[in-house]
Amino acid sequence: MARITRGKSLFGAGVRRICAVAAASTAAEMARLVRAGLEETPTIELRLDWLGNDTERSRFLDWLKRNKPGNATFLATCRRREGGGKLRGGVQAELYWLNEARQAGCSWCDLEIETFRQLPRGKSLSALGLPPHTLLSLHDFRRMPSHLESTPTAAKREPDAQKIAAHAETLGDSLRLLGLAGRSRNLVAVPMGEVGLPARILALREGSALAYAPVGSATAPGQVSLQALKHLYRAHKLTHRTRVYGVIGDPVGHSLSPVLHNTGFLARKIDAVYLPFLVKDLQDFLRAVPEFGIRGFSVTIPHKQSILEHLQECDPLAAEIGAVNTVVVRRDGALLGSNTDYLGILRALERKLVLPGSRVLIFGAGGVARAAAFALAKAGTEVRICGRREKVARQLAKAVGGEAVSRRALKSETFDAILNATPIGMHPHAQISPLLPRELNCRIVMDLINRPRMTQLLKLAARKGIATISGVEMFLPQGIAQWELWTGQRAPESAMRKAVLCALRAEEKSRQHS
Ligand code: NAP
Repeated sequence: MARITRGKSLFGAGVRRICAVAAASTAAEMARLVRAGLEETPTIELRLDWLGNDTERSRFLDWLKRNKPGNATFLATCRRREGGGKLRGGVQAELYWLNEARQAGCSWCDLEIETFRQLPRGKSLSALGLPPHTLLSLHDFRRMPSHLESTPTAAKREPDAQKIAAHAETLGDSLRLLGLAGRSRNLVAVPMGEVGLPARILALREGSALAYAPVGSATAPGQVSLQALKHLYRAHKLTHRTRVYGVIGDPVGHSLSPVLHNTGFLARKIDAVYLPFLVKDLQDFLRAVPEFGIRGFSVTIPHKQSILEHLQECDPLAAEIGAVNTVVVRRDGALLGSNTDYLGILRALERKLVLPGSRVLIFGAGGVARAAAFALAKAGTEVRICGRREKVARQLAKAVGGEAVSRRALKSETFDAILNATPIGMHPHAQISPLLPRELNCRIVMDLINRPRMTQLLKLAARKGIATISGVEMFLPQGIAQWELWTGQRAPESAMRKAVLCALRAEEKSRQHS
C-alpha cells in the first residue's frame, strides 16, 4: 500500500490490539457477542452487514447507544456484497449505516477500497459524517496481491489506518504481508486461509496494528477464535524474544499439540508459543523457519519420512526407524531430527500388556507404524504387519524381524493386541473403522488416532468386550518428550494432560449437542 502512516498505533497497545469480531443476524445475538467480546478486549468490530435487515441494525445501534462502555473502541463495518460483505444495497446505504454507527458511539469505521473509490469527489472523509477514524480495507479472498506496496488510494483522502486481508497460498505469501506490517504501526495485516493461520497469530508481533478474532468459535479456515488468540496463543504478548515452535502436517487443524505445548509453556512461564502450520510444500516451510525464528517443530502426516532428507543430523534410532516426528532447530539453523512416537507407544502399551513374547498386529505401514514396529520389536514383541500395500508391509516386517499378514487372514488370526496405525476414523471422519468386528480377535485394541478419544474402532472393540487404549495415551508421552527436548526442562505433565483431556471433553460435549 502507498503512503503508510508511521508512528504510534491508533488502536493502543497490549490487549487493545486484539479486535473481537461480533457478527450475528439479530440485534439480541449481536448484543450478546459484544458483551462476551468486551470481557476479553476493549476493541470490537461490529459487522453491521451481518444483521438480517435494517430493523435489526437500528435495534442494535439503539442498544449500543445505551450500553456502550466508555473505555471501549468500536469499529463499524457494513461491507457490501461487492467487497465480500453481506449488505444488500449501494454505497449510499453503507454510508448511511456508518453514519448511524458514529451517532451510536463508534469511533472507527472500516471502508473497503471498492467503496472508497466511489465516494463523492472533493469531500473529505469527515464531511461525509463517518466515524472520526477510517480504516481503509482491501480484501482478496483468492490470492495475495502481487504488488502489496502499491495498492492505490485516493491521495487527498488519507485514511487513519489501512488493512490488507488476503489469502495466503504459501508461508512465503504470509511473510510478504507481515513484512509490510513491520514498516508501519497503522497497517493491519490479515493473512487469510489455513496456511496463513500462524502468520495471523504472529501478526501483532510483526507490527500489525490489530489482529481480528471472532467471538465464539472460528467460522472459516484460518480464523482463530478470540479465546484461542488471547489465551492459547497470547498473540498480544508475543515479541521477537518469544521462541516459536509448531507442528507441520496436512491436515493439521485437528491437532491437539498447540493445547499441549502452549499449556506447558504457560505453566513453566516460558516465553514461547507453539503454532499449527498447514504444510503442503516442505520447501516453503523450511524457507520460513529462519524468517519466523522457529526453534523446533513436531512433524506429522504426511511429512514424517520426507523430512529426513532435509536434516543435518538425525538421532540413530529415528534414522533406523526411517521416520522423524520431532525436529530441533539449532542456533546455526541446522535441523536435528528424532522420534518420540517410539517412546509414546511403549508408554501407552506397557501399562496393559507385558511386551516381551506378546504377539501384536500393526495395521498400517506408514510413519507411526514404523515407530511402533521398531519399538515393539526392540521390546521383545512378535510383530505382525498388515498394510494395504503388501510389499511395503513385508519390507517393514522384515526390517524388524516380524512377519506380514494379509488382510484376508485377519478374521482367522489371533493376537494379544491390535494397533491401528492408519488415519481411518480420524476427526472429522469419526464414523468409520479401519477394521471389521470379525477382524478383531485379540485382548487389546489400541487406536493411535487421538481425536476423537473414542474412535469407531475402539467402540467396536469395546462392544466385543476387548480392552481399549486411546491414542491420547500415546500422544501425551510423545508430546511431553518433545517439549522436554526443546526446553531442556521437566514438563509440567499433569497440567498438560489436564488441558488436552479438557479440550477433548469440550469437543465431545459440543458434538453431542450438535
Ligand atoms: P502415514 O505415514 O501417512 O501412514 C499412514 C498409513 O495408513 C500408511 O500405511 C497408509 O497406507 C495407511 N492408510 C491410509 N489410508 C488408508 C486406507 N484408506 N486404507 C488402508 N490403509 C490406509 O501417517 P502416520 O504419521 O503414520 O499417522 C497415521 C495415524 O496415526 C494418523 O491418524 C495419526 O494422527 C496417528 N498418530 C498418532 C500419534 C499419537 O501420538 N497418538 C502419533 C503419530 C501418529 P499407504 O502407505 O498405502 O498410503
